[in-house]
Amino acid sequence: MEGTLQDALRRHFGFGAFRPGQERVVRAVLEGRDALVVMPTGSGKSLCFQLPALLMPGTTLVVSPLIALMKDQVDALAARRIPATFLNSSLTADESARRLAQLRMGHYKLVYVAPERFRNPRFLEALRETPLAMLAVDEAHCISSWGHDFRPDYLHLGEVVAALPPGVRLLAVTATATDAVREDIVRHLRLGQGGRAEPEVLVTGFERPNLSLNVTRVRTHGEKLERLLQIIEFFRTGVVYCATRRMVERVQELLAAHGVRALAYNGAMDDAERTRVQDAFMRREAPVVVATNAFGMGVDRPDIRFVVHWDVPGSLEAYYQEVGRAGRDGAYAWCELLFNYADVRTQEFFIESANPPAEHVYELYAAIRNACAQGENGEATLPPEGWAERAGLKSPLTVRALIALFERNGLLTRVRRVGSPHSTITVPKEGDLPALERICSALARKEAAERDRLRDLLDYVDARGCRHRFLLAYFGDHAPARACTKCDVCHPLAAFPPRLPADPERLVRLRKILSCVARLHGRGDYALVAAILRGEAEAPQWRALSTFGILPEPPAEAIARACEALEMDGYLSGMALTPAGYDLVLGRAPVPPIATFAGAAPADKPKRAAAARPATGLATALRTWVRQEAERRGLPAYMVLHSRTVAAIARKRPGTFEELALIQGMGEVKLAKYAEAILEIVSRYA
Ligand code: ADP
Repeated sequence: MEGTLQDALRRHFGFGAFRPGQERVVRAVLEGRDALVVMPTGSGKSLCFQLPALLMPGTTLVVSPLIALMKDQVDALAARRIPATFLNSSLTADESARRLAQLRMGHYKLVYVAPERFRNPRFLEALRETPLAMLAVDEAHCISSWGHDFRPDYLHLGEVVAALPPGVRLLAVTATATDAVREDIVRHLRLGQGGRAEPEVLVTGFERPNLSLNVTRVRTHGEKLERLLQIIEFFRTGVVYCATRRMVERVQELLAAHGVRALAYNGAMDDAERTRVQDAFMRREAPVVVATNAFGMGVDRPDIRFVVHWDVPGSLEAYYQEVGRAGRDGAYAWCELLFNYADVRTQEFFIESANPPAEHVYELYAAIRNACAQGENGEATLPPEGWAERAGLKSPLTVRALIALFERNGLLTRVRRVGSPHSTITVPKEGDLPALERICSALARKEAAERDRLRDLLDYVDARGCRHRFLLAYFGDHAPARACTKCDVCHPLAAFPPRLPADPERLVRLRKILSCVARLHGRGDYALVAAILRGEAEAPQWRALSTFGILPEPPAEAIARACEALEMDGYLSGMALTPAGYDLVLGRAPVPPIATFAGAAPADKPKRAAAARPATGLATALRTWVRQEAERRGLPAYMVLHSRTVAAIARKRPGTFEELALIQGMGEVKLAKYAEAILEIVSRYA
């Protein structure tokens, strides 16, 4: 059998080897067992049912809620000459009939259907005559009211399963399943029940050892921005997730004011606009995307080097899926959650809006029925805000969520008329009180579940143990424990903003060297690093780097020797930073025990008579400059330089870049942007 499975994999899909876990599931299914597969998005879950489907007689039904993706999946199979199709509401009656006839004749190996299809009598009739091999339930977490995407139609799948002839395999796959969700899946889908053999349960693939997981507590937007700019400066390519559309725009503007070109993406954009932004990011036209959680599906740029969460997400499922987009090429990637407790309120607001109390449900439905009763032809058309006002509800978000629920439960019908921006609603003759009651109790359960998941996320923020371990345990992945090299609990970040440790001068130098190497992205050698840092490199591309000329004093050999020492101590690997190198550069590692520059000790420098002159003239000049600079960049003044920093500069009168870099509040980004101007002003008062 060894050879045959591998051969089949190659023959049908052209893949050289199974990914972790796939083969185990395929074997279990072929042996006649049910299976529950929990693997992250993109890890290859589909193959777990597609390959056995081809190796067994009969048709495999694939239940999926994602109607929009069915066609793509079927097209991909068709391209591999695998007979497959889909049945959903997008088809004409004729086309549906044609496909049902083919289904009966056993023409297809795989047929994708939406869960509501099982309410369609013609489909059920066709099924009775179709020899089935397997029922594969994709996105199986939709069956659980504890999951983040509960769909009542999934619950009916239990009856479908109960009616399956013996021998038809059952496979449930999902990317997210905590214990409670997993129990729901097993129970509702009757895995291993009623005479079925014990199911194979596989939870794997959640480990992402190349991701560095960090939480940084911040108090203000200014602090968030400063940290984000540092991260962008180092990692260049990445995604910034915000909770709301408005915040996406705000962050994009802030970045633009600091010279960072970023794309903006949100769920309310139309399809063409979304595609345009995704394509621009994929084509590397801009290094950074600021986005709501709508961004990501279908974006598989492998070299995303950072994911920053400007706001807290609503659950660990969402969080892990979003950070999971970083580092798909397996190389080091940085994930940082900028945590401000106040932002939790936004998520609570989302939860409350999406799960209103019973009286709001009844009020809105009554308002809709009244409006239809009075409207022409029994119809009513209003924007969400209009409905909110009629029913005395606060949030149009609530209205949207409820109308969608009413529709799914047959309490109303929506049509979109050409030229009208809002749907027209009609209601059935009789009200359906039990359906309303069902909606209310489902909403109450969902609210409790969502609050639980938000609490889990806050536990993660406060975690006292390794963040990688925390997430693996959360997802139920029992990967063997390994030493963590990349999380801020195991390797604490220095206080924010990063403070300089005991020997600040040395650390500043080392960070400059590492920064310079990072910016070369693998090009050049240590001699080039020295030439750039000393300001001696000729080519314009080196002169344009923000590290050009920032370390003029140590001789070139000393810099090259320091590079070698950094390499020996594991901070550099050739022309690339190691994880420890990044830690050092980002201010979360202690000063390393490595050789520093000989002959350039700070004590050799002539001491200047600072503080002898009154600082006020200089302070005024600096403040004037800060104001002008702030105006020019369209920023509040404190974001250019904090008044504390201005005072410190006036007091200490730095004469060199190095001295300026030691002043609290002068981070990498500020140095790169303002050092020249500040040193010039200080020199006028020297
Ligand atoms: P999921 O459903 O887990 O999100 P998919 O099933 O869509 O992921 O698979 C993601 C990608 O991985 C697809 O492009 C698929 O063709 C590819 N893939 C799956 N299994 C293998 C394999 N064994 N070798 C190489 N590529 C694979």
